[in-house]
Amino acid sequence: MTAEAHFSATYAEARARFRAAATAAGADIQSYLNPQRGPDGGELATDVARLGPQQASRLLIAMSSTHGAEGFCGSGIQNSWLGDGAFKKLPADTAILLIHAINPYGFAWVRRVNEDNVDLNRNFLDHAKAPENPGYRELRDHICPKEWSDESEAAVKQVFQKFIDRHSRIELQAAIMNGQYWDKDGVFYGGTGPTWSRRTLAAALSPYAATARHAAFIDLHTGLGPYGVGEIMSNDFGGTPGAARVRDWFGPEATMLDDGSSTSTAVTGDTNIGVVAALPATTITGITLEYGTVPVEPMIDAVRADNWLHVHGKLDSDLGRKIKSQIRYTFYPDERKWKEMIIERAVDVLGRTMKGLTQS
Ligand SMILES: [Zn+2]
Repeated sequence: MTAEAHFSATYAEARARFRAAATAAGADIQSYLNPQRGPDGGELATDVARLGPQQASRLLIAMSSTHGAEGFCGSGIQNSWLGDGAFKKLPADTAILLIHAINPYGFAWVRRVNEDNVDLNRNFLDHAKAPENPGYRELRDHICPKEWSDESEAAVKQVFQKFIDRHSRIELQAAIMNGQYWDKDGVFYGGTGPTWSRRTLAAALSPYAATARHAAFIDLHTGLGPYGVGEIMSNDFGGTPGAARVRDWFGPEATMLDDGSSTSTAVTGDTNIGVVAALPATTITGITLEYGTVPVEPMIDAVRADNWLHVHGKLDSDLGRKIKSQIRYTFYPDERKWKEMIIERAVDVLGRTMKGLTQS
């Protein structure tokens, strides 16, 4: 099939495609219903497909839609692997677990966040020990303004520039994106406790806790880096055994979040922590496969605008439609060339991950 044929225009279409492809591949499918509904009134669920024996000691886990709107890409990748027969011949004692739309609400509503306005990659921590983010606190009313227009945004950009002059561009990115735990109507909010998605991930992985000896984890993302390029980010910081395995499997192109080699700043509370918690006796080798879309500043602005729209604006308005189409493009450039780059890289990364896992 062509690369484009694996991608979907809506969450509902992606879900149906995934379930059909998983069924055709002979997978076992478990579904976890989310209590919310999509904009079309449709059901929302995380679907988990397993190929290979449940008792396998080697487990490859690939997850889509941690950041809802990024699910257009992640679902397309999962469907391409299934549809193009990547798992037809599995190595012995190996199982594949494809977690489709861990944040089905954000996928369906084309938002990065979940039904509680929570960024899932800031939610997987002990909330009693949630970090402070003074830069966010200082800039809050500019990051999340009450009104949205070209004029108000020009004023916000002047405030941001002053912050950059006093600190640096990367510190501004960190202030906005590293997460915060007090502003429930703000951006990159980590919540006050485990979300539905966090509990669902734990439930989906628990059947494997007793038998999986080594698990590879690929969390599929978009939004950072050059257009169409898939960056392999180690989920463990440099200097740890997990990061050493990522280096071993992927070579020098693997990046670390804590040494400046990655397009991402070091965030706390990501999904990898949930995988480790659910599989406490298993060695986890985790990466984030992050595909570039647009430059970081328009990406951040698209998230800020979408937050403004859902807190202060009207979805059913010209500005509302403009903001929704902007955030969709920011996390899913719906273009043939981009999709071809995504799939080619996904096949490459899957092959190297399987090789690393099999040789472990
Ligand atoms: Zn993401």
